[in-house]
This record gives sequence, C-alpha cells and structure tokens, in this order.
Amino acid sequence: MNTASTPADRKIVIVTGASSGIGAATARHLAEAGHHVVLGARRTERLALLTKELREAGHSVEHAELDVTDRDGVRAFVDAVLARHGRVDVLVNNAGVMPLAPLAALRVAEWDQMIDVNLRGVLYGIAAVLPSMLERHSGHVVNIASTAAHRVDPTAAVYCATKYAVRALSEGLRQENSDLRVTVVSPGFTRSELTHKGGDAEAQGAARDATELIGLPAAAVAEAVGYAIAQPAHVDVNEIVVRPTVQN
Ligand code: NDP
Repeated sequence: MNTASTPADRKIVIVTGASSGIGAATARHLAEAGHHVVLGARRTERLALLTKELREAGHSVEHAELDVTDRDGVRAFVDAVLARHGRVDVLVNNAGVMPLAPLAALRVAEWDQMIDVNLRGVLYGIAAVLPSMLERHSGHVVNIASTAAHRVDPTAAVYCATKYAVRALSEGLRQENSDLRVTVVSPGFTRSELTHKGGDAEAQGAARDATELIGLPAAAVAEAVGYAIAQPAHVDVNEIVVRPTVQN
C-alpha cells in the first residue's frame, strides 16, 4: 500500500517509542503509506531491525536513539531530523509506560517515571517541534493517550493522571495554534509490551490477562493514527477512541 502518491503527500514523520507495540505498528503503517518515518526509542537494536525490515520492503525509514525524558536529547533528535529533511510534518508522541499499582503501595519512583515519560516526554516532544512548525504555519502533533484519559480505575491513578493531562495539553495546543493539527488517539486494551514492565504483580497480571483475552492488535491503533494524518490540511481530527468491542 502506498497512499502518499505524490511528493507533496509524503510527510516527514517522527514516531517516539517505535521499538515495540503501537509505536512499531504505527511506524510500519505510515512507512507503508509512503511517508518517511523516523523511529525513536532507547532500544536501538529493535529500531535497527525494524528499519532493516522496512527498507528491504522498499520503504523510507531511519532511526536514532531517543530517551523522551531527556529534554536536550529530544531537541537534538528533532534538530537532526530538521537538518536532514528541512521539516517535521508529524510528531507521533507515543512513548509511554504503565506500571500499575495501588497508590498505597507508594511506588513513588514509578509515579515519577510515568510523569517523566508519559507527560514530560510528550511536552519535550512538543517543545522540540513547535518552533519550526509555527514558522512553517504547518504541522501535526499526534498524542497517544488512552481510554485511561477518559475514566479512572483502581491501580491506574497516576497513569490516568498522566493521560488526562495529555488530553488537556493537547486541547490547549490546539486552541492556541490555528495553523497546527492536533490529534489525540486513545486506545483501549491493545497487545504490546506495556504490561510487561514494573508495577505491582497482581495489577500488572490482571491488565496482562485482559489484554491477552480481548486486546486489539497494535495495527488497529496504527490505522487510527494513519486516518488522522491522511486527512487534508484543513481537516483536524481531534480525538479518536479505539477500543476492543467487548471492552466495558
Ligand atoms: P510498549 O511497552 O510495547 O511500547 C512502549 C514504547 O515506549 C516502547 O517502544 C519503549 O521503547 C518506549 N519508551 C518507554 N520509555 C521511553 C523513554 N524514556 N524514551 C523513549 N521511548 C520510551 O507499549 P504500547 O505500545 O502499548 O504503548 C505505546 C503507547 O500507547 C503508550 O503511550 C501507552 O500508554 C499507550 N497505550 C497503550 C495501551 C495498551 O493497551 N497497550 C492502551 C492505551 C494507551 P524503549 O523501551 O525501547 O525506549
């Protein structure tokens, strides 16, 4: 599939957290749609494998190490893309972590990690692309939130807080900048590595079981991102919630 049929349709897209799950599926989907995709994450060996696979399939992809909690690193990553390509058309702020646990467990280091990755990381991404997008009067920021940005559940208080915050700041970004498109994509349970790391064993296990039972393939979320990006410049898809049909 190659839908970006003219050079004008071909966008320079950055995807953060592209080493697994929704980020990797989104990178794959957008590369297959004909865009130039720049993959970022910490596990560069994973990125290198995906880059190789997509290049061998004839797609236009590159990757670099990215830790979204490092503001200077995020700026350097984006500046390198600007130096090579002259613009960033789309930033997909996808990197995220979800170590679930009750607040009473006081896993404060993991609260900080969720705030640093899920919230500060998104803000650092926006800070890095915003000046050049405003200069060009054009750009698209896609933030991956969650159904946890729409309702709160036990063991997910801090995770939900970060995702509600992402929705709030996305709306502010949209209102303040009439030249930019801003999209929030909120997935429900989706198969990925999200429940594999950190958190309380019981809470993570319950989320993992639910995901294995009903989770969407990550490609379903990638399709939603692709839909928003594919709209004409005057159409700003602001919010998409995509969840398994059986999810309550
Ligand atoms: P994965 O764990 O599979 O992917 C998370 C990605 O984030 C990885 O590529 C990881 O890369 C990256 N990441 C984590 N920390 C950092 C960091 N400090 N700097 C850069 N990249 C980082 O989970 P998902 O694909 O599920 O998660 C993607 C997004 O989707 C997240 O924002 C998550 O909150 C959201 N989401 C997921 C849902 C689900 O059910 N799966 C539901 C709703 C929302 P690396 O470790 O290599 O740096």
